[in-house]
Amino acid sequence: MSKVVIFLGPPGAGKGTQAKRLALEAVLVQISTGEMLRDHIARGTALGQQVKPVLDSGGLVSDAIVIAMIREKLSNMDDVRVIFDGFPRTVAQAEALDMLLEELSSPISSVPLLEVPEDELVSRLLERGRLEGRSDDNADTIRNRFKQYLEKTQPLIDYYATRGHVHPIDGMGTPEEVYTRLKAVAA
Ligand code: ADP
Repeated sequence: MSKVVIFLGPPGAGKGTQAKRLALEAVLVQISTGEMLRDHIARGTALGQQVKPVLDSGGLVSDAIVIAMIREKLSNMDDVRVIFDGFPRTVAQAEALDMLLEELSSPISSVPLLEVPEDELVSRLLERGRLEGRSDDNADTIRNRFKQYLEKTQPLIDYYATRGHVHPIDGMGTPEEVYTRLKAVAA
C-alpha cells in the first residue's frame, strides 16, 4: 500500500530528526532534498559544485534541479512509501509532485506541519552550527533561509489546506513528545 507524507515546517523545526524516526517505524523512505544536495556537495559532483554557493547563501536551488532529483528517486520505487522532508519548498515543486504522484497512483496521505516560534528556531540552528559545523547554520544564512521560507514555502500551507491534508503539530517539547504528536497524525 502506498503512503505519502509531506512534512512541512520552517528551517530548524526538527523535521529531519522526526522524519527519520517515523520512516523507521512506519517503513517509509525518507526523502530529504537538503541531504541529497549536501551529499552531492560532499562527493564533489558537478551538481554539487553548482549548488554549493546556493546552499551557502541560504537561497533555494532551482525547481528544475530539485524536481529532477525527486522524479528519479520515485521512478526507482515499486511501492511508493515515502516521507518528504524539505520538499516541496515552492508552489511549482508542489504542482510537479502532484503530477508525479498522480502518475504513480499514490495519493498524499498526510501533511504534518511542525510549528516552532522563530526565536527558538534561530537558537536551535545556531546551536546546531556550533555542534555540527553545517556551513549554512550561521546568522546571515539563517536570516536568508527564513526569508525564503516565508516568501516561497509558507504559501504551501494554504496550497495543501485547500486539498484538506494539513495537520499542525506543536514542535516545542522533547523530541519524544513531538514524535508522539507526529505519530498521531501521520503513522
Ligand atoms: P533546513 O530546512 O534546515 O534549512 P534542508 O536540509 O532542508 O535544511 O535544506 C538546506 C538547503 O538546501 C536549503 O537552504 C536550500 O538551499 C537547499 N534545498 C533543500 N531542499 C530544497 C528544495 N526542495 N528546493 C530548493 N532548495 C532546496
